[in-house]
Amino acid sequence: MLAAEFVQQINTLSEQNVQLCYHCHKCTSGCPVTAEMQYGPDRVLRMVQLGQKERLLSSSDIWVCASCETCGTRCPNEIDIARIMDALRQMAYREHARVGEPDAVKFHTLFLGLTRLMGRMHEASLVGILTLRTMKLTTDVKTILKMLLKGKAPLLPKPVKNRDEIRHIYVHTSGTDSSGIDKNTP
Ligand code: SF4
Ligand code: SF4
Repeated sequence: MLAAEFVQQINTLSEQNVQLCYHCHKCTSGCPVTAEMQYGPDRVLRMVQLGQKERLLSSSDIWVCASCETCGTRCPNEIDIARIMDALRQMAYREHARVGEPDAVKFHTLFLGLTRLMGRMHEASLVGILTLRTMKLTTDVKTILKMLLKGKAPLLPKPVKNRDEIRHIYVHTSGTDSSGIDKNTP
């Protein structure tokens, strides 16, 4: 794919202008998770400009990004980098790219799947199912157990009354079917 075509796709998806970036590095200096990234937000923008689609879609950066928007606030050109990261995640997911952080994708898809089914999040289900899917015991398990014991989180899910309205939002924003099942869920 030509660099210009990739830039156009990301600009359209994010509603930003990637070409405005002149690599001052201010975004990366303020990003709280740069240490966990391969490249950092300013280099991600440069890679978009250069059309390095495959490298970007398989990078961990787009999934490590916490969408905190610090970078966009610091950018002298008012580029909303969090939206560009979001556009890259959408593209990676839709195109079934080899993702750099498969556990993060599992978390996102499970989070969306549960809220779509119940109309709200049920933390115990989220942690339990995610633990089974990733086969990793994280500190979240300890935290949710503490919350359950202290009555800070419900043991059983309590779906909202009008779940159809929530499903309606998903169908019209993600293009998935009305069954509430996302067939792309890993
Ligand atoms: S702060 Fe803005 S202009 Fe500077 S490197 Fe980051 S995205 Fe580019
Ligand atoms: S939105 Fe993402 S890239 Fe930007 S500062 Fe926050 S974590 Fe870093």
